[in-house]
Amino acid sequence: MNNEIITPDIEFEQKLRPSRFADFTGQDKIRERLELFVQAARERNDVLDHVLLSGPPGLGKTTLSYILADAMDANIKCTSGPVIDKPGDLAGLLTSLERGDVLFIDEIHRMQRTVEEYLYSAMEDFVIDIVIDQGPNARWIRLDIQPFTLIGATTRSGLLSAPMRSRFGLANRLDYYGADDLAAILRRSAVILNVDIDDEGAAEIASRSRGTPRIANNLLRRARDYAQVKADNRITRAIADQALGLLDIDEDGLEEMDKRILSCIINKFGGGPVGLSSMAVSVGEEADTIEEVYEPYLIQEGYIKRTPQGRVATPAAFIKCGVEPPKE
Ligand code: ADP
Repeated sequence: MNNEIITPDIEFEQKLRPSRFADFTGQDKIRERLELFVQAARERNDVLDHVLLSGPPGLGKTTLSYILADAMDANIKCTSGPVIDKPGDLAGLLTSLERGDVLFIDEIHRMQRTVEEYLYSAMEDFVIDIVIDQGPNARWIRLDIQPFTLIGATTRSGLLSAPMRSRFGLANRLDYYGADDLAAILRRSAVILNVDIDDEGAAEIASRSRGTPRIANNLLRRARDYAQVKADNRITRAIADQALGLLDIDEDGLEEMDKRILSCIINKFGGGPVGLSSMAVSVGEEADTIEEVYEPYLIQEGYIKRTPQGRVATPAAFIKCGVEPPKE
């Protein structure tokens, strides 16, 4: 992915990442539920149950994991599914954990099956069985590990195996944020970034952020640059509009790749249905990125429908592309 608006910038994100529940805006149900479970576990002096967080990128899964670890006074170790390529790597991680520690595995749906199977006994009974030696001398040894909390994050919960999913006590699906929540996040970020933003400026950026805090913060950063050079460091609606116009973000938050996807379905495939892989080749983007990053928002906003035959453009997509929608 090479789009700087949706790509994480680790250092910038850490600066803006809320570290307590009180600063985490939106997702009220999930936040309340997690706070309650933290309190219950703490009162029992227990370890927090394993937590699954799913939803599109940039909605706060990593942020919530840090907040949970902090609220439990626990250390957090972070890794990602594709990085653990041998059971030995996982064993090394698990045996280094202290009681109550959080192990955060991002993109847990991309973990190899052989590694995943080791995780089952670790999650359930806090033991791992390792094979030592090979051939006729091969034997198992059982290692105890400290009770820990696994937090798994995934953009594709549908790809998670049933045994894996069933081992999470708390499964939570994060949804796109409403404009008010995004505006509140933007106002908080503006204070940290030391830039002045008025309510209308925040509302303008919020409405063009695809319901995603990561994108809202990245757009704020660009608007800040613009305001610094052109507007005395103050972001108003007009300044936000000019800055986002420069980035080719339209009034509905769609950007160049979204429009390329819609135009491809409409102009090259007659409105669809078209399969994901043909579309990916045609727009020059990875199929996974289209499916995980661009498409969910286009579907939620009613531009695309998924059918068993493939993706279909809706009348709203035709209008967005300036093409007359088909009659029927
Ligand atoms: P994910 O892990 O789901 O891809 P992150 O947790 O890395 O997303 O969040 C991306 C950025 O958005 C972070 O900089 C974080 O500060 C910000 N962010 C996400 N959710 C919230 C929220 N609810 N309140 C404030 N900031 C948020």
